[in-house]
Amino acid sequence: MLTSIVGINWGDEGKGRMVDLLSKDYDIVCRYQGGNNAGHTVINERGRFILNLLPSGILREGVVCVMGPGMVIDIKHLAGEMARLREAGITITPENLKISDRAVITMPYHVQQDCLEEARLADKKFGSTRRGIAFVYADKYMKKAFRMGELQNLDRLAKRVPDIVEWKNLTIANAYGAEPVQAEEMIAYLKEYGEPLKEYICDTGLFLNEAQRQGKKIMLEAQLGALRDLDFGIYPYTSSSNNIAAYGPIGAGVPNLKLDKTIGIMKAYSTCVGEGPFTAEYFGEKAEKLRKAGGEYGAATGRPRRVGPFDAVASRYGIRVQGADEIALTKLDILSGHEELEICTAYDLFGKKLTEFPFTDVLDDCKPVFETVKGWNCDISACRKKEDLPKEALAYIRLLEELCACKIRYVSVGAERDAYIEM
Ligand code: GDP
Repeated sequence: MLTSIVGINWGDEGKGRMVDLLSKDYDIVCRYQGGNNAGHTVINERGRFILNLLPSGILREGVVCVMGPGMVIDIKHLAGEMARLREAGITITPENLKISDRAVITMPYHVQQDCLEEARLADKKFGSTRRGIAFVYADKYMKKAFRMGELQNLDRLAKRVPDIVEWKNLTIANAYGAEPVQAEEMIAYLKEYGEPLKEYICDTGLFLNEAQRQGKKIMLEAQLGALRDLDFGIYPYTSSSNNIAAYGPIGAGVPNLKLDKTIGIMKAYSTCVGEGPFTAEYFGEKAEKLRKAGGEYGAATGRPRRVGPFDAVASRYGIRVQGADEIALTKLDILSGHEELEICTAYDLFGKKLTEFPFTDVLDDCKPVFETVKGWNCDISACRKKEDLPKEALAYIRLLEELCACKIRYVSVGAERDAYIEM
């Protein structure tokens, strides 16, 4: 069985927390795209963890984690992440972590290029996480990247480095005027951080196909959300990879397998990191209150997130492009303590009411249309059954289901593993 767990909104919906919970029913958890620009926060009985590269399933004993060919991997960052988890008592061996030979390596010069470009853009910057992601994906498509499988033969890889570095310096040294990258340093870097990873590298497609044949349950874990997908998100304010569920089997290394189910993780309100159109955005005191209540500061960067009420237009679009079969609604507890709650039900485009999410350019001229519903004044974080919920919270959930035309199966009311309701 192949299930994908994906973000419906702009990312930070709480995917890590839901994967951590739902992975109890799975044998394998696989990340299929993106790199260490992700920041999945997981809180369970073993502690509080921020995972950037490793699949969230790594925190569950007995679950095998896979980093698929669709990923870009910063090997130094991965070494640090593995060391931190090991210090916390988490076991990571080639038995429970498999890294695709086809995944691409994020090099230090990709990070450098990212920083140089953000500095050049100055106040016109896009809000990159400066982890080199756009640049490593660009090199992948230019066929100038290194892949994890090449670490298996470091001598052969070393021979490829000077040519690539020479090409890279046309940009870094000649265009940006920065210090040229040194091939010798890159070779030493690949050896230092590549050597310890060798035993984890394999054909993850073969592994997953075999697992599927044996009836194992496989979960594909996305990073970010539909509105950050390179093709279907708010381009150019997107990430540089495809996070949509349909890409999952490809990015995991099993293009021959079909998804059995897609679970969409949707937040009870809206948040967005970085630049770009965010129609339902709150400002001032209203925004500050929601940001504080939800602890909306980036896990990877610490940046304050932009916030707003639930956006039904964007969420319905997210559900469509993800092909979500059911929804896990997260952070409903954060909305407690309000007389009334707003929901963005449409966009106003010069007096025209839009209910379908438009092309990115059009978003700049859209104003939110808010509707008000009754809030609830009590803490719901201890609720574990739908009968425990105040009727206003239940009505809010039902309204979201209706607006999005998708069933909400789980409602998360806290960050801890057991703080959820199955509807
Ligand atoms: P991800 O990237 O989609 O995994 O999301 P993040 O980890 O960036 O953000 C989710 C944050 O909200 C994390 O700090 C979680 O621990 C926390 N969280 C997740 N679900 C809930 C919930 O239902 N209620 C509360 N209060 N916090 C939650």
